[in-house]
Amino acid sequence: MTTFDATEVRLSYANPLVEKLRDEGELVVGELTFLMPTSFGFCWGVDRALAMVEEARKEYEGRPMWLLSSIIHNPRVNQDLRDKGIRFLKGPLADEAPEDAPAEKLGPSDVVFIPAFSAEIEDMKRLEEKGVQIVDTTCPWVIKPHKRTQKYIREGFTVVIHGTVGHDETRATCSLVEASEGRFVVVHDLEETEILSAAVEGELDEEALRGGLHEEAFSSVFEFPGDLARIGIINQTTMLATESRAIGNRLKTAIALRDGDEGLAESFRDFDTICRATQDNQDAADKVAQRNPDLFVVVGGFDSSNTRNLARVGDAAGVPAFHIEGPECVGESIRHRERNSGAIIETRDWLPMEGPVTVAFTAGASTPDTILGQVVKKIAERRGENLPSNLGGSGSPVDLL
Ligand code: SF4
Repeated sequence: MTTFDATEVRLSYANPLVEKLRDEGELVVGELTFLMPTSFGFCWGVDRALAMVEEARKEYEGRPMWLLSSIIHNPRVNQDLRDKGIRFLKGPLADEAPEDAPAEKLGPSDVVFIPAFSAEIEDMKRLEEKGVQIVDTTCPWVIKPHKRTQKYIREGFTVVIHGTVGHDETRATCSLVEASEGRFVVVHDLEETEILSAAVEGELDEEALRGGLHEEAFSSVFEFPGDLARIGIINQTTMLATESRAIGNRLKTAIALRDGDEGLAESFRDFDTICRATQDNQDAADKVAQRNPDLFVVVGGFDSSNTRNLARVGDAAGVPAFHIEGPECVGESIRHRERNSGAIIETRDWLPMEGPVTVAFTAGASTPDTILGQVVKKIAERRGENLPSNLGGSGSPVDLL
């Protein structure tokens, strides 16, 4: 499905306040100034996945429908699909207990959606064996690292994945490597890359390498140090692009130190597989952060990788950045995800209650405009500012053209 119509999807999540901010980039309400980047929110891949679901709901009307797991990492969107009668086979929204797994009872009349970030090979095989109608919404940008992975394996490289162990996309990539009898190592950040680089350089033994990385960061077969002889890097599509580049450079240096510059062509590959939407949203968020807002509110699912990395863009610019899921997180304190620990915490005194305040926003690729709009409105209300009536408040209307 290269062409699709996401009009229906966009309309169902449209919000006039966000539209205004998208068009103008800035909105002043009393003492509040809201800033919005030029790129944020639903990406092409999410539009496509949700449009495919809507199309399939019409085409296969009346048949039982299932999502393998969350279609995208946004709780509201997944709940909306559930409300439309689509049930979940795996993940936190799965209806049945694992011992009563409905996947075993599926048959040709069932329709199963594969999420935008793809699926593990074993799951795909099981579904094919059951003869179900598969609707594969895997984003074409996610296919890119898969293709590169297979190329590396064919050429005898160990795949180094800059990603998050346990994230659906990285799990799918790892399963592809296992099924192809290849080798992989997952590094999450520069700190872990330092450990891997030291092992490549011969400065660390296997125990120290394994101890320094996540216990599931290695393929089931991984021979040390032989499987570090030739490495090829890919990225989970939604990682922080600046960090991905730094990771590539650090590992390149490690190989050059070990094999000399002439060894690089033989032993090192690096291929940028960050998706365009992720890159655009991060670049735009950085530009807004450079305007020195008083705070940066990043809206998206707590388990959304691209949203987490947008919050890190704010951190890098030195702006207080809060990653929240939606309007329910906004109150006297703000409920947000702490970057280093991943804990969901509450912070008080997060919004100056007097004087002019500039608040910048962005939203992850899986965040509907409706949620972002509710967050903006709630922040205005906390400061006692009334939005124009045609933007969700009761103040004088503004021109929407
Ligand atoms: S964030 Fe990128 S890879 Fe993920 S669905 Fe959107 S376009 Fe595709």
